[in-house]
Amino acid sequence: MKENQFNLNNTPVLTRRKFLWLSSAAAAGILAGCATDPITGQTQLMLVSEESEVQIDRKNSPSQFSADYGTIQDKALNSYINLTGKKIASITHRPKMPYYFQGVNAAYVNAYAFPGGSIAATRGILVNLDNEAELAALLGHELGHVNARHTAEQMSKGVLTSVVVGGLSAYAGTKNQTYGKIAEGIGMMGSVMLLASYSRDNEREADALGLEYMVKAGYSPDGFIGLMDMLKKMSKNKPGTIALMFSTHPMSDERYDTAVKNAENSYGSSRKLPLFRDRYMDNTARLRALKPAIEEIQNGDSEMGKQNYRNAETHFKNALSFAPADYAGLVMMSKCLLIQEKYSEALRYAETAKDVYPGEAQAHQISGFARMKKKDFESAYEEFDSYEKALPGDPSTIFYKGYCQEGMKHIKESAFEYNRYLQIVKNGEQASYSYQRLVEWGYIKPAK
Ligand SMILES: [Zn+2]
Repeated sequence: MKENQFNLNNTPVLTRRKFLWLSSAAAAGILAGCATDPITGQTQLMLVSEESEVQIDRKNSPSQFSADYGTIQDKALNSYINLTGKKIASITHRPKMPYYFQGVNAAYVNAYAFPGGSIAATRGILVNLDNEAELAALLGHELGHVNARHTAEQMSKGVLTSVVVGGLSAYAGTKNQTYGKIAEGIGMMGSVMLLASYSRDNEREADALGLEYMVKAGYSPDGFIGLMDMLKKMSKNKPGTIALMFSTHPMSDERYDTAVKNAENSYGSSRKLPLFRDRYMDNTARLRALKPAIEEIQNGDSEMGKQNYRNAETHFKNALSFAPADYAGLVMMSKCLLIQEKYSEALRYAETAKDVYPGEAQAHQISGFARMKKKDFESAYEEFDSYEKALPGDPSTIFYKGYCQEGMKHIKESAFEYNRYLQIVKNGEQASYSYQRLVEWGYIKPAK
Protein backbone atom coordinates (compact mmCIF):
# COMPACT_ATOMS: atom_id res chain seq x y z
CA MET A 1 0.00 0.00 0.00
CA LYS A 2 3.04 2.20 -0.36
CA GLU A 3 1.37 4.23 -3.05
CA ASN A 4 -0.83 5.87 -0.46
CA GLN A 5 1.99 7.04 1.68
CA PHE A 6 2.53 10.69 1.96
CA ASN A 7 6.16 11.62 1.68
CA LEU A 8 7.20 15.17 1.13
CA ASN A 9 10.63 14.21 -0.09
CA ASN A 10 9.45 12.02 -2.91
CA THR A 11 8.70 13.39 -6.31
CA PRO A 12 5.21 12.31 -7.26
CA VAL A 13 5.22 9.42 -9.69
CA LEU A 14 2.39 7.84 -11.57
CA THR A 15 1.39 5.10 -9.18
CA ARG A 16 -0.80 2.21 -10.15
CA ARG A 17 -3.82 3.80 -8.52
CA LYS A 18 -3.41 7.01 -10.49
CA PHE A 19 -2.80 5.05 -13.63
CA LEU A 20 -5.98 3.06 -13.08
CA TRP A 21 -7.84 6.20 -12.28
CA LEU A 22 -6.64 7.93 -15.41
CA SER A 23 -7.41 4.83 -17.45
CA SER A 24 -10.92 4.71 -16.06
CA ALA A 25 -11.31 8.38 -16.86
CA ALA A 26 -10.30 7.57 -20.41
CA ALA A 27 -12.67 4.62 -20.51
CA ALA A 28 -15.51 6.78 -19.26
CA GLY A 29 -14.91 8.97 -22.27
CA ILE A 30 -14.29 12.07 -20.26
CA LEU A 31 -10.99 12.93 -21.83
CA ALA A 32 -11.07 15.70 -24.40
CA GLY A 33 -8.58 16.98 -26.95
CA CYS A 34 -7.41 20.51 -27.61
CA ALA A 35 -9.00 23.39 -25.78
CA THR A 36 -8.65 27.12 -25.65
CA ASP A 37 -6.70 28.38 -22.67
CA PRO A 38 -9.20 30.63 -20.88
CA ILE A 39 -6.41 33.00 -19.81
CA THR A 40 -4.27 33.38 -22.93
CA GLY A 41 -6.87 32.51 -25.54
CA GLN A 42 -4.35 30.17 -27.16
CA THR A 43 -4.96 26.56 -27.98
CA GLN A 44 -3.57 24.22 -25.38
CA LEU A 45 -3.31 20.47 -25.35
CA MET A 46 -5.96 19.52 -22.86
CA LEU A 47 -6.90 15.92 -22.27
CA VAL A 48 -9.59 16.83 -19.79
CA SER A 49 -12.80 18.53 -20.82
CA GLU A 50 -14.57 21.14 -18.72
CA GLU A 51 -17.40 18.70 -18.14
CA SER A 52 -14.99 16.15 -16.76
CA GLU A 53 -13.33 18.77 -14.57
CA VAL A 54 -16.70 19.19 -12.88
CA GLN A 55 -17.21 15.41 -12.70
CA ILE A 56 -13.80 14.85 -11.17
CA ASP A 57 -14.52 17.57 -8.66
CA ARG A 58 -17.86 16.07 -7.63
CA LYS A 59 -16.36 12.60 -7.36
CA ASN A 60 -13.30 13.52 -5.32
CA SER A 61 -14.03 16.61 -3.28
CA PRO A 62 -16.51 15.08 -0.77
CA SER A 63 -13.94 12.55 0.53
CA GLN A 64 -11.41 15.32 0.86
CA PHE A 65 -13.79 17.51 2.83
CA SER A 66 -14.53 14.57 5.13
CA ALA A 67 -10.83 13.78 5.53
CA ASP A 68 -10.55 17.41 6.64
CA TYR A 69 -13.24 16.73 9.29
CA GLY A 70 -16.10 18.16 7.30
CA THR A 71 -17.42 21.59 6.52
CA ILE A 72 -17.23 23.85 9.57
CA GLN A 73 -20.59 23.81 11.30
CA ASP A 74 -20.74 27.61 11.70
CA LYS A 75 -23.19 28.37 8.89
CA ALA A 76 -22.81 32.14 9.10
CA LEU A 77 -19.04 31.87 8.70
CA ASN A 78 -19.35 29.50 5.74
CA SER A 79 -21.78 31.76 4.03
CA TYR A 80 -19.39 34.69 4.58
CA ILE A 81 -16.53 32.69 3.01
CA ASN A 82 -18.74 31.59 0.14
CA LEU A 83 -20.00 35.09 -0.59
CA THR A 84 -16.50 36.53 -0.46
CA GLY A 85 -15.30 33.85 -2.87
CA LYS A 86 -18.23 34.22 -5.23
CA LYS A 87 -17.81 37.97 -5.43
CA ILE A 88 -14.26 37.41 -6.70
CA ALA A 89 -15.22 34.43 -8.88
CA SER A 90 -17.70 36.54 -10.82
CA ILE A 91 -14.90 38.66 -12.29
CA THR A 92 -12.55 35.77 -13.20
CA HIS A 93 -11.93 34.33 -16.66
CA ARG A 94 -14.34 31.46 -16.05
CA PRO A 95 -17.19 33.11 -14.16
CA LYS A 96 -19.68 30.36 -15.05
CA MET A 97 -17.98 27.47 -13.24
CA PRO A 98 -20.04 26.05 -10.35
CA TYR A 99 -17.92 27.68 -7.64
CA TYR A 100 -18.43 26.86 -4.02
CA PHE A 101 -16.29 28.11 -1.12
CA GLN A 102 -16.23 26.83 2.44
CA GLY A 103 -14.20 26.35 5.57
CA VAL A 104 -13.28 22.83 6.72
CA ASN A 105 -12.55 21.75 10.29
CA ALA A 106 -8.94 20.58 9.85
CA ALA A 107 -6.44 22.34 12.10
CA TYR A 108 -3.43 22.31 9.81
CA VAL A 109 -2.79 25.24 7.47
CA ASN A 110 -4.09 24.63 3.95
CA ALA A 111 -6.38 25.74 1.16
CA TYR A 112 -7.15 23.91 -2.06
CA ALA A 113 -9.28 23.91 -5.18
CA PHE A 114 -10.82 21.06 -7.11
CA PRO A 115 -11.01 21.57 -10.88
CA GLY A 116 -14.76 22.20 -11.00
CA GLY A 117 -14.52 25.09 -8.56
CA SER A 118 -15.00 23.51 -5.11
CA ILE A 119 -12.63 25.48 -2.93
CA ALA A 120 -11.88 25.03 0.76
CA ALA A 121 -9.75 26.67 3.43
CA THR A 122 -8.97 24.98 6.75
CA ARG A 123 -9.66 26.46 10.18
CA GLY A 124 -5.90 26.41 10.64
CA ILE A 125 -5.39 28.97 7.90
CA LEU A 126 -8.57 30.97 8.58
CA VAL A 127 -7.59 31.72 12.21
CA ASN A 128 -4.27 33.07 11.00
CA LEU A 129 -5.63 35.58 8.48
CA ASP A 130 -5.82 39.18 9.58
CA ASN A 131 -8.39 40.72 7.23
CA GLU A 132 -10.78 40.04 4.37
CA ALA A 133 -8.25 41.17 1.77
CA GLU A 134 -5.99 38.30 2.88
CA LEU A 135 -8.89 35.89 2.54
CA ALA A 136 -9.55 37.36 -0.91
CA ALA A 137 -5.89 36.82 -1.79
CA LEU A 138 -6.09 33.18 -0.65
CA LEU A 139 -9.33 32.46 -2.52
CA GLY A 140 -8.08 34.49 -5.49
CA HIS A 141 -4.97 32.30 -5.72
CA GLU A 142 -7.10 29.13 -5.68
CA LEU A 143 -9.39 30.68 -8.29
CA GLY A 144 -6.24 31.28 -10.33
CA HIS A 145 -5.58 27.52 -10.37
CA VAL A 146 -9.16 26.76 -11.44
CA ASN A 147 -9.19 29.45 -14.12
CA ALA A 148 -5.85 28.48 -15.61
CA ARG A 149 -7.04 24.84 -15.47
CA HIS A 150 -3.91 23.70 -13.66
CA THR A 151 -5.40 20.46 -12.31
CA ALA A 152 -6.50 19.47 -15.79
CA GLU A 153 -3.07 20.40 -17.12
CA GLN A 154 -1.29 18.33 -14.46
CA MET A 155 -3.66 15.44 -15.13
CA SER A 156 -2.94 15.61 -18.83
CA LYS A 157 0.72 15.23 -17.94
CA GLY A 158 -0.10 12.41 -15.56
CA VAL A 159 1.29 14.18 -12.51
CA LEU A 160 -1.12 14.06 -9.68
CA THR A 161 -0.40 13.72 -6.04
CA SER A 162 -2.30 11.05 -4.28
CA VAL A 163 -1.99 11.80 -0.62
CA VAL A 164 -3.82 10.80 2.46
CA VAL A 165 -4.86 13.68 4.60
CA GLY A 166 -6.23 13.36 8.06
CA GLY A 167 -5.81 9.64 7.78
CA LEU A 168 -3.61 7.52 9.96
CA SER A 169 -1.47 6.54 7.03
CA ALA A 170 -0.48 10.17 6.70
CA TYR A 171 1.83 9.30 9.56
CA ALA A 172 2.86 5.98 8.10
CA GLY A 173 5.32 7.56 5.71
CA THR A 174 7.58 7.97 8.71
CA LYS A 175 10.47 5.66 9.39
CA ASN A 176 9.11 3.92 12.43
CA GLN A 177 8.40 0.39 11.26
CA THR A 178 6.21 -0.60 14.16
CA TYR A 179 4.03 2.35 13.63
CA GLY A 180 3.88 1.80 9.90
CA LYS A 181 2.58 -1.71 10.55
CA ILE A 182 -0.11 -0.57 12.94
CA ALA A 183 -1.21 2.12 10.57
CA GLU A 184 -1.39 -0.34 7.73
CA GLY A 185 -3.44 -2.64 9.95
CA ILE A 186 -5.77 0.19 10.71
CA GLY A 187 -5.92 0.87 7.04
CA MET A 188 -6.22 3.91 4.91
CA MET A 189 -8.46 5.84 7.16
CA GLY A 190 -8.96 9.21 5.72
CA SER A 191 -9.39 9.38 2.03
CA VAL A 192 -6.97 9.21 -0.74
CA MET A 193 -7.36 12.37 -2.62
CA LEU A 194 -6.26 13.48 -5.98
CA LEU A 195 -4.79 16.88 -5.62
CA ALA A 196 -2.77 18.39 -8.35
CA SER A 197 0.79 19.00 -7.36
CA TYR A 198 1.23 22.35 -9.00
CA SER A 199 4.43 23.32 -10.74
CA ARG A 200 6.37 26.47 -9.93
CA ASP A 201 5.03 28.00 -13.14
CA ASN A 202 1.50 27.14 -12.03
CA GLU A 203 2.14 28.89 -8.72
CA ARG A 204 3.50 31.99 -10.40
CA GLU A 205 0.46 32.14 -12.67
CA ALA A 206 -2.01 31.53 -9.80
CA ASP A 207 -0.34 34.28 -7.76
CA ALA A 208 -0.54 36.72 -10.68
CA LEU A 209 -4.19 35.85 -11.35
CA GLY A 210 -5.10 35.89 -7.66
CA LEU A 211 -3.65 39.35 -7.28
CA GLU A 212 -5.42 40.58 -10.40
CA TYR A 213 -8.77 39.15 -9.28
CA MET A 214 -8.67 40.42 -5.71
CA VAL A 215 -7.77 43.96 -6.75
CA LYS A 216 -10.48 43.91 -9.44
CA ALA A 217 -12.91 42.83 -6.71
CA GLY A 218 -11.99 45.93 -4.74
CA TYR A 219 -9.35 44.80 -2.23
CA SER A 220 -6.00 46.37 -1.46
CA PRO A 221 -3.07 44.35 -2.85
CA ASP A 222 -1.59 44.66 0.65
CA GLY A 223 -3.83 41.70 1.49
CA PHE A 224 -1.73 39.59 -0.85
CA ILE A 225 1.48 40.69 0.85
CA GLY A 226 -0.10 40.02 4.25
CA LEU A 227 -1.01 36.47 3.20
CA MET A 228 2.48 35.81 1.85
CA ASP A 229 4.07 37.15 5.04
CA MET A 230 1.85 34.94 7.17
CA LEU A 231 2.72 31.82 5.15
CA LYS A 232 6.41 32.65 5.29
CA LYS A 233 6.30 33.12 9.06
CA MET A 234 4.35 29.89 9.45
CA SER A 235 6.90 27.93 7.44
CA LYS A 236 9.57 29.09 9.90
CA ASN A 237 7.64 28.57 13.13
CA LYS A 238 5.41 25.61 12.35
CA PRO A 239 6.81 23.83 9.31
CA GLY A 240 4.82 20.62 9.97
CA THR A 241 1.51 22.43 10.08
CA ILE A 242 2.00 23.95 6.66
CA ALA A 243 3.92 21.11 4.97
CA LEU A 244 1.01 19.80 2.93
CA MET A 245 0.12 23.21 1.61
CA PHE A 246 3.67 23.77 0.41
CA SER A 247 3.86 20.28 -1.06
CA THR A 248 0.99 21.09 -3.40
CA HIS A 249 1.60 24.85 -3.73
CA PRO A 250 5.42 25.11 -3.90
CA MET A 251 6.74 28.15 -2.04
CA SER A 252 10.07 29.84 -2.72
CA ASP A 253 11.82 33.13 -2.05
CA GLU A 254 11.43 33.92 -5.71
CA ARG A 255 7.67 33.34 -5.55
CA TYR A 256 7.41 35.51 -2.48
CA ASP A 257 9.54 38.32 -3.95
CA THR A 258 7.66 38.34 -7.26
CA ALA A 259 4.27 38.50 -5.58
CA VAL A 260 5.32 41.28 -3.23
CA LYS A 261 6.97 43.24 -6.04
CA ASN A 262 3.84 42.98 -8.22
CA ALA A 263 1.56 43.97 -5.37
CA GLU A 264 3.73 46.99 -4.63
CA ASN A 265 4.47 48.09 -8.19
CA SER A 266 1.94 46.92 -10.79
CA TYR A 267 -0.94 47.45 -8.35
CA GLY A 268 0.66 50.25 -6.34
CA SER A 269 -2.13 52.69 -7.09
CA SER A 270 -4.68 50.25 -5.65
CA ARG A 271 -3.04 50.13 -2.24
CA LYS A 272 -5.50 52.74 -1.02
CA LEU A 273 -8.32 50.18 -1.45
CA PRO A 274 -9.65 48.71 1.81
CA LEU A 275 -8.53 45.58 3.68
CA PHE A 276 -11.88 45.11 5.44
CA ARG A 277 -10.23 44.09 8.69
CA ASP A 278 -13.23 44.74 10.96
CA ARG A 279 -15.55 42.76 8.73
CA TYR A 280 -13.19 39.77 8.81
CA MET A 281 -12.77 40.03 12.57
CA ASP A 282 -16.54 40.18 13.13
CA ASN A 283 -17.28 37.22 10.90
CA THR A 284 -14.53 35.05 12.36
CA ALA A 285 -15.00 36.00 16.03
CA ARG A 286 -16.43 32.60 17.02
CA LEU A 287 -13.76 30.76 15.08
CA ARG A 288 -10.92 32.84 16.52
CA ALA A 289 -12.23 32.16 20.02
CA LEU A 290 -11.31 28.51 19.31
CA LYS A 291 -7.72 29.33 18.41
CA PRO A 292 -6.22 27.80 21.59
CA ALA A 293 -8.00 24.50 20.81
CA ILE A 294 -6.96 24.60 17.16
CA GLU A 295 -3.34 25.17 18.17
CA GLU A 296 -3.45 22.28 20.63
CA ILE A 297 -4.78 20.06 17.84
CA GLN A 298 -1.89 21.21 15.64
CA ASN A 299 0.53 20.33 18.45
CA GLY A 300 -1.09 16.92 18.89
CA ASP A 301 -0.89 16.32 15.17
CA SER A 302 2.80 17.14 15.12
CA GLU A 303 3.44 14.77 18.07
CA MET A 304 1.56 12.05 16.19
CA GLY A 305 3.93 12.58 13.29
CA LYS A 306 6.83 11.94 15.66
CA GLN A 307 5.10 8.84 17.08
CA ASN A 308 4.87 10.50 20.51
CA TYR A 309 1.34 9.26 21.03
CA ARG A 310 1.21 9.93 24.78
CA ASN A 311 2.22 13.55 24.19
CA ALA A 312 -0.24 13.80 21.33
CA GLU A 313 -2.97 12.49 23.62
CA THR A 314 -2.19 15.22 26.17
CA HIS A 315 -2.48 17.92 23.51
CA PHE A 316 -5.79 16.55 22.23
CA LYS A 317 -7.03 16.37 25.82
CA ASN A 318 -6.10 20.05 26.28
CA ALA A 319 -7.89 20.95 23.07
CA LEU A 320 -11.01 19.09 24.18
CA SER A 321 -11.02 20.57 27.67
CA PHE A 322 -11.12 23.93 25.94
CA ALA A 323 -13.64 22.91 23.26
CA PRO A 324 -15.33 19.65 24.33
CA ALA A 325 -17.56 19.40 21.24
CA ASP A 326 -14.80 19.96 18.70
CA TYR A 327 -15.34 17.33 16.01
CA ALA A 328 -11.79 17.39 14.64
CA GLY A 329 -10.37 17.19 18.16
CA LEU A 330 -12.62 14.23 19.03
CA VAL A 331 -11.82 12.29 15.87
CA MET A 332 -8.09 12.90 16.18
CA MET A 333 -8.13 11.85 19.82
CA SER A 334 -9.93 8.68 18.77
CA LYS A 335 -7.30 7.96 16.12
CA CYS A 336 -4.51 8.61 18.62
CA LEU A 337 -6.08 6.06 21.00
CA LEU A 338 -6.60 3.53 18.18
CA ILE A 339 -2.91 3.64 17.37
CA GLN A 340 -2.19 2.93 21.01
CA GLU A 341 -4.65 0.02 20.82
CA LYS A 342 -6.92 1.59 23.44
CA TYR A 343 -10.03 0.54 21.56
CA SER A 344 -12.72 1.13 24.17
CA GLU A 345 -11.56 4.65 24.87
CA ALA A 346 -11.17 5.32 21.16
CA LEU A 347 -14.74 4.18 20.61
CA ARG A 348 -16.03 6.59 23.26
CA TYR A 349 -14.48 9.55 21.46
CA ALA A 350 -15.67 8.34 18.06
CA GLU A 351 -19.22 8.05 19.37
CA THR A 352 -19.10 11.57 20.84
CA ALA A 353 -17.77 12.79 17.48
CA LYS A 354 -20.78 11.19 15.76
CA ASP A 355 -23.08 12.99 18.20
CA VAL A 356 -21.57 16.43 17.73
CA TYR A 357 -21.55 16.25 13.92
CA PRO A 358 -24.31 13.92 12.74
CA GLY A 359 -23.85 12.76 9.19
CA GLU A 360 -20.13 13.53 8.91
CA ALA A 361 -18.62 10.31 7.61
CA GLN A 362 -15.18 10.00 9.17
CA ALA A 363 -16.39 9.36 12.74
CA HIS A 364 -18.33 6.34 11.42
CA GLN A 365 -15.20 4.85 9.94
CA ILE A 366 -13.22 5.38 13.15
CA SER A 367 -16.07 3.98 15.22
CA GLY A 368 -16.29 0.99 12.87
CA PHE A 369 -12.62 0.28 13.29
CA ALA A 370 -12.75 0.46 17.08
CA ARG A 371 -15.79 -1.86 17.12
CA MET A 372 -14.11 -4.28 14.73
CA LYS A 373 -11.07 -4.43 16.99
CA LYS A 374 -13.39 -5.18 19.91
CA LYS A 375 -14.81 -8.00 17.76
CA ASP A 376 -18.26 -6.44 17.70
CA PHE A 377 -18.55 -7.24 14.00
CA GLU A 378 -22.24 -6.57 13.59
CA SER A 379 -22.16 -2.98 14.81
CA ALA A 380 -18.78 -2.40 13.12
CA TYR A 381 -20.32 -3.46 9.82
CA GLU A 382 -23.12 -0.91 10.30
CA GLU A 383 -20.58 1.85 10.83
CA PHE A 384 -18.57 0.94 7.73
CA ASP A 385 -21.79 0.70 5.79
CA SER A 386 -22.81 4.21 6.92
CA TYR A 387 -19.41 5.47 5.84
CA GLU A 388 -19.70 3.83 2.44
CA LYS A 389 -23.18 5.21 1.90
CA ALA A 390 -21.88 8.72 2.56
CA LEU A 391 -18.64 8.30 0.61
CA PRO A 392 -18.82 5.39 -1.82
CA GLY A 393 -15.82 3.61 -3.25
CA ASP A 394 -13.21 3.68 -0.49
CA PRO A 395 -11.44 0.29 -0.86
CA SER A 396 -10.43 -0.12 2.79
CA THR A 397 -14.00 0.35 3.91
CA ILE A 398 -15.05 -2.39 1.49
CA PHE A 399 -12.36 -4.68 2.87
CA TYR A 400 -13.50 -4.06 6.44
CA LYS A 401 -17.09 -4.76 5.49
CA GLY A 402 -15.89 -8.11 4.18
CA TYR A 403 -13.86 -8.71 7.32
CA CYS A 404 -16.88 -7.94 9.53
CA GLN A 405 -19.11 -10.25 7.49
CA GLU A 406 -16.49 -12.95 7.89
CA GLY A 407 -16.44 -12.25 11.63
CA MET A 408 -20.21 -12.87 11.64
CA LYS A 409 -19.63 -16.10 9.65
CA HIS A 410 -21.54 -14.72 6.66
CA ILE A 411 -19.31 -16.33 4.04
CA LYS A 412 -21.30 -15.38 0.96
CA GLU A 413 -21.62 -11.70 1.96
CA SER A 414 -18.00 -11.64 2.99
CA ALA A 415 -16.88 -13.08 -0.36
CA PHE A 416 -18.95 -10.45 -2.12
CA GLU A 417 -17.07 -7.63 -0.35
CA TYR A 418 -13.61 -9.23 -0.76
CA ASN A 419 -14.32 -9.61 -4.45
CA ARG A 420 -15.36 -5.97 -4.67
CA TYR A 421 -12.15 -5.02 -2.90
CA LEU A 422 -10.05 -7.03 -5.35
CA GLN A 423 -11.68 -5.23 -8.26
CA ILE A 424 -10.06 -2.04 -6.96
CA VAL A 425 -6.86 -3.14 -5.21
CA LYS A 426 -4.64 -5.95 -6.46
CA ASN A 427 -1.61 -5.76 -4.17
CA GLY A 428 -0.83 -5.54 -0.51
CA GLU A 429 -1.77 -7.34 2.66
CA GLN A 430 -5.51 -6.78 2.43
CA ALA A 431 -5.58 -7.87 -1.21
CA SER A 432 -3.74 -11.11 -0.55
CA TYR A 433 -5.93 -11.76 2.49
CA SER A 434 -9.06 -11.26 0.36
CA TYR A 435 -7.66 -13.44 -2.39
CA GLN A 436 -6.75 -16.26 -0.01
CA ARG A 437 -10.23 -16.26 1.50
CA LEU A 438 -11.87 -16.43 -1.92
CA VAL A 439 -9.62 -19.35 -2.85
CA GLU A 440 -10.29 -21.09 0.43
CA TRP A 441 -14.06 -20.72 0.00
CA GLY A 442 -13.92 -21.97 -3.57
CA TYR A 443 -14.83 -18.72 -5.29
CA ILE A 444 -11.50 -18.50 -7.08
CA LYS A 445 -9.42 -21.31 -8.54
CA PRO A 446 -5.83 -20.69 -7.47
CA ALA A 447 -3.45 -19.89 -10.31
CA LYS A 448 -1.24 -22.88 -11.10
ZN1 LIG B 1 -1.14 27.35 -5.54
